[in-house]
Amino acid sequence: MQKFLSETPRIAVSACLLGQAVRFDGGHKRNRLITDQLASIMDIVPFCPEMEAGLGTPRPAIQLRRIGGRVRLVQSQDASTDVTDRVSAVAITRASQFVENISGLIVQRKSPSCGMERVPVSNGPGKSPAYNGIGVFTDQFSQYAPLIPIEEEGRMNDPILRENFLERVYALNRWRHLDPKDLKGFIDFHARHKLLLMARGSEAYMRLGRIVSGVTRATLEQQREVYILQFMQTLKKKVSRGHHYNVLQHIMGYFKNNLSAEDKQELISIFDAYRAEQVPLTTPVTLLSHHLRKHPDDYLESQYYFTPYPGTLALRAAV
Ligand code: SF4
Repeated sequence: MQKFLSETPRIAVSACLLGQAVRFDGGHKRNRLITDQLASIMDIVPFCPEMEAGLGTPRPAIQLRRIGGRVRLVQSQDASTDVTDRVSAVAITRASQFVENISGLIVQRKSPSCGMERVPVSNGPGKSPAYNGIGVFTDQFSQYAPLIPIEEEGRMNDPILRENFLERVYALNRWRHLDPKDLKGFIDFHARHKLLLMARGSEAYMRLGRIVSGVTRATLEQQREVYILQFMQTLKKKVSRGHHYNVLQHIMGYFKNNLSAEDKQELISIFDAYRAEQVPLTTPVTLLSHHLRKHPDDYLESQYYFTPYPGTLALRAAV
């Protein structure tokens, strides 16, 4: 059924997660999900802000520290050695390199450079740290490249967060392959993501639809930017089983005149089992795909909801 996946996305990953010995202690933090599974469906570009800032390895450990009301990136044993500006400069350089051709970023958690959230911020010797920091690289990067989805390696073990990240990466990659002057392609992009958006609430789909319906060739360039920012923010929303349940019922509505009473009852039972967390999302989606093959429908077949990223991996099986 899947007939529209575009080229392989490229994501950037903290180099230590790829097994590169770039950590302060000369070690790495290889993550098998990334190196063994994601690397088979995506091109991976490594980066290490601290190495690129010229700090070398092994190197003295650094930390976020609150100094004079501001959070700075300093050596843990010598707060007078401040590398905030060097790591920030790497972030800006990398953001300008990645902004057009990288569709996602996976970063090492708790790192004072790469961490995405809850990074320890020291309040000085003998005081308890606050766990509310953002790594300097990731903080700067996200401001310069706000479209690019960012996720932490630890959170990738959560099936719902992983699914959400992969959906966003593949959606942004598809967007990057659109011709910016192609109004019809823009309208199609929105239409094909309808069910993925509806899983975040029908209001979001309608809101984005109002942008699309008002676009002309003269306003396309400007409105594309407005649209994709809101689109990516919408996709970031976590999808509950209840939301998926509504979408599954919506899909079943397309078959209602073709299904026997038994088939309908089977689908409803599977939907209920999914909502009750007894089966993963792949179970009702696979059954719906089976009916779609028997009763083809152009609109449903165009929807990325069925396979938002290559379905060859079992990554979606736990959602
Ligand atoms: S967490 Fe970031 S800065 Fe630290 S070693 Fe890994 S890639 Fe380099």
